[in-house]
Amino acid sequence: MALIHLFRKCNQSCVFCSYPAEDGEDAGVSLKGWLKEITLMPPGLVQISGGEPLLAGSRDLCLLLAAVKKLGRRAELQTNALAAAELPGGEIKNIVRALNAANGYFNVNFPASTPDLDLKMTRAPGGFEKRLAGVKRLIGAGGAVRLTHVISELNYKELPAFAAYAAKNLKGIAWLQFSYIKGLGRAGGKKYLPKYAAVKPYLEKALSICRENKIRCEVDHIPPCFLGEFYALNVDMVKMRDGVKGPHLEEKEQVEPCLDCRFIKLCPGPRKDYIAVHKKL
Ligand code: SF4
Repeated sequence: MALIHLFRKCNQSCVFCSYPAEDGEDAGVSLKGWLKEITLMPPGLVQISGGEPLLAGSRDLCLLLAAVKKLGRRAELQTNALAAAELPGGEIKNIVRALNAANGYFNVNFPASTPDLDLKMTRAPGGFEKRLAGVKRLIGAGGAVRLTHVISELNYKELPAFAAYAAKNLKGIAWLQFSYIKGLGRAGGKKYLPKYAAVKPYLEKALSICRENKIRCEVDHIPPCFLGEFYALNVDMVKMRDGVKGPHLEEKEQVEPCLDCRFIKLCPGPRKDYIAVHKKL
């Protein structure tokens, strides 16, 4: 797996953004630089991220996706989908076509099921309505859309409401990932990191609603020991079983209670930044 950050430019200012600090210079921001970077990446999925990648413009994005395809790699285009509500229809179609050709999918950051909560988390006025419209346009144009719902202190009690909202309003998504907030970037420190134990009942209820509504789900950054009957939805388990290397081995580390755990061979442990904040599992 390989990740490319096109630039820092973004049309949101999410409280949970893990990359990077808002200020600072972007080095090597050009199509030429991006093309060179992807040829040097380790094998596997190419994750195209930002900032907000749709702000790169459809022409450069399509050329980048064509290069990913040419390398025989799969692309993940990470986006908040706001720009997808406003780009001309022809440009949306071109991006979807190029992404599909690279066997790819959109990974849309969708953090809330109400405008008020969305605003609190993304600090983008009107973002909720635009995001919903953007997702519908991407799906309508034939794109595969995965949603990522970042779980933070601000929204974890609303997880069941979000699952119900997705079932009703986001039909056609390929799958939904519930992803615990990383304690990096703007989300550094403990302000936004709820305890796994506090999240557990709400997440289990949300996963149950998704199951009832046949929404394919997965969970990242919350260990299987906090997922109850849904433990197998943890994304690290398959990677660990298959011996896949990746960031999960660097970001996470087993702690003392893991020694007696039935998942010890299939779980890399909790996130290190979680333990740094909460001290224990
Ligand atoms: S190995 Fe540790 S973090 Fe992972 S499920 Fe077991 S106790 Fe939880």
